[in-house]
Amino acid sequence: MSGDHLTGTTFEGRAAEQLAKPFQRKAIPAAVDGTVAHSRALFATGDRERLRELGRDIRAHAVANLPEYVAAFTDAAEANGTRVHFAGDATEANAIVAGICRDAGAQLIVKSKSMLTEEIELNPALEAAGFEVVETDLGEYVVQIANDRPSHIIGPIIHKTRGEVRELFSAIAGRDLGDDPRALTAFAREQLRDVFLRADVGITGGNFAVAESGSVVLVTNEGNARLATSLPRVHIALVGVERLLPRTADLSVLIPLLVASGTGQQLTTYLSIASGPRREGEPDGPDEMHVVLVDGGRSAILGTGYQDILNCIRCGACQNVCPVYRQVGGHAYGWVYGGPIGAVLTPLFKPSAEGLEVAHASSLCAACDDVCPVKIPLHDLLVDLRRDRVGRRIPGRFERLAYGAWSRAWSSPLLYRLSGRVGIASLRLLARGGVVRRGLGPLRRWTRDRDLLLPGRRRR
Ligand code: SF4
Repeated sequence: MSGDHLTGTTFEGRAAEQLAKPFQRKAIPAAVDGTVAHSRALFATGDRERLRELGRDIRAHAVANLPEYVAAFTDAAEANGTRVHFAGDATEANAIVAGICRDAGAQLIVKSKSMLTEEIELNPALEAAGFEVVETDLGEYVVQIANDRPSHIIGPIIHKTRGEVRELFSAIAGRDLGDDPRALTAFAREQLRDVFLRADVGITGGNFAVAESGSVVLVTNEGNARLATSLPRVHIALVGVERLLPRTADLSVLIPLLVASGTGQQLTTYLSIASGPRREGEPDGPDEMHVVLVDGGRSAILGTGYQDILNCIRCGACQNVCPVYRQVGGHAYGWVYGGPIGAVLTPLFKPSAEGLEVAHASSLCAACDDVCPVKIPLHDLLVDLRRDRVGRRIPGRFERLAYGAWSRAWSSPLLYRLSGRVGIASLRLLARGGVVRRGLGPLRRWTRDRDLLLPGRRRR
C-alpha cells in the first residue's frame, strides 16, 4: 500500500466486506461511546471553545511557519545531543532508520505505537533488512502477531473480539489462556518485558516535537513508550514534520485537548518528554537519540486550500462520532487512516482515483467538525476534495451526465418545485403508514437496510 495505489478495491467493496461482520458493527460504538461521553463531560466544564481556539491557533501558527520551527527544533535538539534526520518520503525514512540500526549493530528492535510508521510501512522494511521488530503497545502487539492492520488511531484492535485475542495468545503460549482480559494482558506483559530488556533499539513516534527545547513528546497509557525510550541503547523517534510546536508552554493547551478528545481522560497515564541521550550521572536513558522528521507528502499540502489538515493531532475523536466509520470501521478506507481524518488524508497522500474516492465516505453531517479539538473544518475539506475529483473528471460518464442534468434541473425554480412534488407523490404511493419499507430502483438499496420516513408537510 505504499505506492499511489491502495488495495485495488473500491470503498463500496471494502465497506460491504466490513458490514458483513456483525461483531464489528456493535463493537465500534460500544468501544467508543464511553470515550465520547467522557470527552463531552470534560469539555462541558470550563471554557471548551476557548481551549479549542487556542489549540487551533497554536497548530495553525506552527504549520504556517514550519521551516522556521523545523530549523529551531533541529538546533535545539542537536544542542541536546540528539541527531536530527530529514526524510522526504517513506523509502528515505525507512533507509535512515535501517542505517541507524545497522550502525548500532542492532538485531532486536522494540516499537511503541506510531501511525506514521504505519504510513511508511516501517516494520516490513526493517524485517526485510534483517532486523527483528516487536510492537509493544498491547493493541499493536495483537495486530502484529495477527498479521493485521490497526483500524483506529487510538484503539488499533477495536475490530477484534476477545476470543480472537485469546486464540492468538494461546497459540503462542501453547496452552489455553482463557478469556479474562487481565490474564491476557499479563501474558503479553510477561512476553514483552523480556523483549524490552534484550532490545538494542527503541522506536517511537512523537505526538509533538517542541522547537524551543528540541524535545519529543509522547503521550501513552501503557508505559511502553517510556520503556522503549529508556532501556535500549538507541532511541529513534519518527515524527511527522508538521507535528512541531513552538514552545514548551504550548503543551499546556495541546496535551489536555489531545487526552480529553482521544481517550476522554483528564490526564494521560504517562507523559514522556525525551530531550536527548542520557547525560552523565543520569541512571537511565539511551546512549544515542535520533529524530527522523518525515515529510511524506506533508509539505505538498502546505499553501494549498487543505493546509488546515496539517493541524491534526491524531486524537481519533472524529472517527468516534462519524456515522460512516462507526458502521464500516477503519479498514474500509483502504489505507492507514479511517473516519473523517482518513477521508481527507487518504485523497491528499494518495491522489489516485482510488484515493480520491474515499472523500465520499462521509455523510457530511459535520459531527466531526464539532468534536475536532483543533477545529479543523473537515466537512469543508471533504466537499473541496469532492469538487477536485469532479474537476479531474474522475467520475464515470454516466455519473457526470446524471449530476449535470440534476444541477441544470434544480437551477430552475420551476423544475425544482416540480421535481419535489413528483418525488413526494411517488414516495406516498410506496408508503404504508407514512413509512417506505421497500423502495424501487436506486431507493431499493436504501430501504434494504433502513426505513424511509415520508417528509413532513410544510407548515404554513
Ligand atoms: S481531524 Fe481533528 S478530530 Fe480528527 S484526528 Fe485530527 S485532531 Fe482529532
